[in-house]
This record gives sequence, C-alpha cells and structure tokens, in this order.
Amino acid sequence: MEKTMDKIVNLCKSRGFVFPGSEIYNGFANTWDFGPVGVELKNNIKRAWWKRFVQEEPNSYGVDAAILMNPKVWEASGHVQSFGDPKMDCKKCKQRFRADTLIEAHSKGSVAAEAMSNEELEKYISDHHICCPHCGNFDWTPIRKFNPMFKTSRGSLEAEADVVYLRPETCQGEYVNFLNVQRTTRAKVPFSIAQIGKSFRNEITPGNFLFRTIEFEQMEFQTFCRDENSMEIYEKNKAAALQFAKDVGLKEENLRFHDHDKLAHYAKAACDIQYKFPIGWEELNGIHHRGTWDLSRHQEFSGKSMQYLDPVSNEKFVPTVIEYSIGADRLVLAVLCEAYDEENLENGETRVVMHLHPALAPYKVAVLPLQKNLSEKAREVYAHLSKHFMCDYDEAGSIGKRYRRQDEIGTPLCVTIDFDTLEDNTVTVRDRDSMQQIRLQIDKLVQYVEDKIKF
Ligand code: ATP
Repeated sequence: MEKTMDKIVNLCKSRGFVFPGSEIYNGFANTWDFGPVGVELKNNIKRAWWKRFVQEEPNSYGVDAAILMNPKVWEASGHVQSFGDPKMDCKKCKQRFRADTLIEAHSKGSVAAEAMSNEELEKYISDHHICCPHCGNFDWTPIRKFNPMFKTSRGSLEAEADVVYLRPETCQGEYVNFLNVQRTTRAKVPFSIAQIGKSFRNEITPGNFLFRTIEFEQMEFQTFCRDENSMEIYEKNKAAALQFAKDVGLKEENLRFHDHDKLAHYAKAACDIQYKFPIGWEELNGIHHRGTWDLSRHQEFSGKSMQYLDPVSNEKFVPTVIEYSIGADRLVLAVLCEAYDEENLENGETRVVMHLHPALAPYKVAVLPLQKNLSEKAREVYAHLSKHFMCDYDEAGSIGKRYRRQDEIGTPLCVTIDFDTLEDNTVTVRDRDSMQQIRLQIDKLVQYVEDKIKF
C-alpha cells in the first residue's frame, strides 16, 4: 500500500477533517479549515501536548500571549531588521526561492551557502547555471530581501508609527513574560513557560497540505536555566520530544534526529526531529539551545532588566534558554499520515482505516442502532456516553457501511444496539483495529472506554 499525500488529502476532505480555506471562492492558497472531525483531532493533540508538557511537568507554566505585540519586540528579535532570507523569483513561472537553499540543494549540502553574501550567491547560481526547480528555466530576478512577517496597521492612519505585525513565532510571548511568570509562580530555574497559539508567516514556498501554511499553530515551551546545566536540559528536552512523538503514535522507524551543522552565532546546539512524511524526511519539531540571546536582546531593547535573582545565592544573571517548538498542524499531518491504512479483507474488499491513538480520535465511540426502530434505546445510550466523551450517532445505511465510515475517521469503538439490548441492557462493542466484538453491560461502557483512551 502506497501512502500518498493525495490519498490523505482526499480522505480529509471527504470525511470532514480538513477543507480548503474559502473554498466557495476557489480557495485561498495555503490556508485550510479544520472540519468537524479535524477540529476534534487537533484539539485532542493540543490537549495531549499540554498534559505532557505543562500538567505533568512540575516546573512548567502556561501562558496565552497576545498575537499583536509591541513592534519593538520584532526589532529585538531581529525580524524587522534582517528582512528575512535572500529570495529570488523565477521570471518564467513566478515561483520564489531562497538563493542559499537552491545552492545547497544543487551542491547536495557540500557548499555552506548561508555564509555567502548576495553577490557570491548570485555568482554561484550563475556560474553553475542552477535552474528553477519548478519549471526548469534559468531566468532569475536579482536577490531581494523579503520580510516573512505579515504587516497590518493599528488605528486609522497608515503612518509608519502604526505598523504592527502578526507574530511569526509564539516564543516572544514567553520571553517578554519571563519575569511576570517567575514572580507570580515563584519558580526557580530551571523552569519552563509553555504556550499554544497561532503564528503567521508569509512563506515563500508554502505547500504540501498542512505541512507549510501561512497561518499555523505552534506548541512550544522555553526552559530557562543556568548555562552550566543547559546542555543536560537540551538533551533531556530532546528525549522528551521524541518520546511525545512516539506516544502520539508516530512509529520509531519514521522518526529521527537531525542535528544542525550550521548554528546561529548565539547557539550552542540545535536539532530537529524529522518525520518521514509521504514527501520525504522533513522537520516536525525543533529543539534549540538559544543561549542568553533572546532575553539579553529584550533587556537591551526594552531597557528593563531580564535578570533572574537566585533566592539562595542572591546571584543575578540572565538565564540561558532551551527552546522546544512543534507545529500543531504539522503534527496533525504526521499523525494522519501514520494512522492511514488500507487493509485487504478476507472477503476481497479493502477497508480504509485510521489507526489513530484512541486518545486522539475525534469520536471515542459511535452508537449505532442495528435497525431504525431501535433508535430510542440507542439515543438513550448516546445521551449517557456523550456526557463523558465525544460520540457519534449514526442510523443510516447498512451496519457494514456505518462501521466503514467510523473506521475512516478513526473511531476506536462502535457500540451496536440490537433487540437483545432491550431485554438485557447489553450492547455489542466492536474494536476498530481488530474488528473483534464483545458483549458488554451498558453500565460498564464508560469505564471500558475510559481504559481504552488513556494517554
Ligand atoms: P522550516 O525550516 O520548516 O521553515 P523553521 O525551522 O522555520 O521551519 P521554527 O521557526 O523552528 O521552524 O518553527 C517551529 C515549528 O513550527 C516547526 O518545527 C514546524 O513544526 C512548525 N512550522 C514552522 N513553520 C511552519 C509553517 N509555515 N506551517 C506549518 N508549520 C510550521
């Protein structure tokens, strides 16, 4: 069975995981809307992440910072000045590329293009006749700097002073609140500040469904620590990141660490966790040692001290930061790709089934009356179960077809109401993965489902 992105996208559209953004207006490129089952899956992924990295971590605290921040934040972070990466447009097909990544792809990573000046980049591309990867032509614009931040304006006057940006990363919300959180929680280093929220990037090469979009959610935490413990914490966070990826159902053989060879000048170490998507090995998650760069920059630009006061030694210092960051949408995509399966059944049919971890599945249970005249009892069972879990109810079509629908959206359990149910209050419970069926008392159902969906 070949898992292709097209199969995943088609299933997502037909079953209500994800729809193209603004579809009735022919869409809006690289925006996607989560549908009824997609929003459940994404919320469950966010909940599992928060449980792991905030609830179960004794020294971790959540925040939910504003998307619009004082523009000085983006001066301190370097986003305003750096104006992004060196970009070139293909004049023929109008696609935009990063000049350094064109060279790296062409030289198979043997040329360190990131360190080159614009003139050197242009000369290399010309000398080696590097053509457009999209249309194959050699017709480039000169290199231009391109700001990946979406700009908007505050107030009615479009003067420069009113320019604000949609945040391109969530982490600045944690950095600016570092001392607020520390003061109100009385946290001692090492401690983490975590956040889940939207980020916006005017990406030059968006695409591949949810993989790279212009609006996406990030789930990330920053661990503030002493520099002498920082590598130990970096390693610990790497291990925790891998464990989480495995726990949401990604297979070990589809995950790997990828250390960065080139580091930012302030960084001691950086690595990604890559996942084997149908498009190949790609970054899922980053773990970066950021030194004292971010807090020092905010100290410089805001004029406010970002120092931590050690309550025992009375020592004052700017902590080192270890960053963990993962895209919620990119993780949804990985989870969907991993879960997708086509099974050949003994009767010669193929069943499409999403083997989602039960804790992540949009619906935990589907309640299915065998026949329509059993719907009163079935609705009673549905009302009972839906007080505890997201449940689906379906009485249309043959029972076989209804099972298939639930398999395709990854519902781990189907509860069937038949005529015996009216006599003895038992139901048939069918397992999505094994297709095995058992008979269970209705009053045992809640516990049975609880046990099945633990994360
Ligand atoms: P890339 O190299 O893929 O552009 P990045 O190194 O810029 O990613 P970070 O800034 O470290 O990414 O962002 C952290 C995480 O946010 C990434 O690992 C990824 O999961 C997610 N992410 C980043 N950009 C996008 C995007 N445009 N669409 C969806 N998810 C994204």
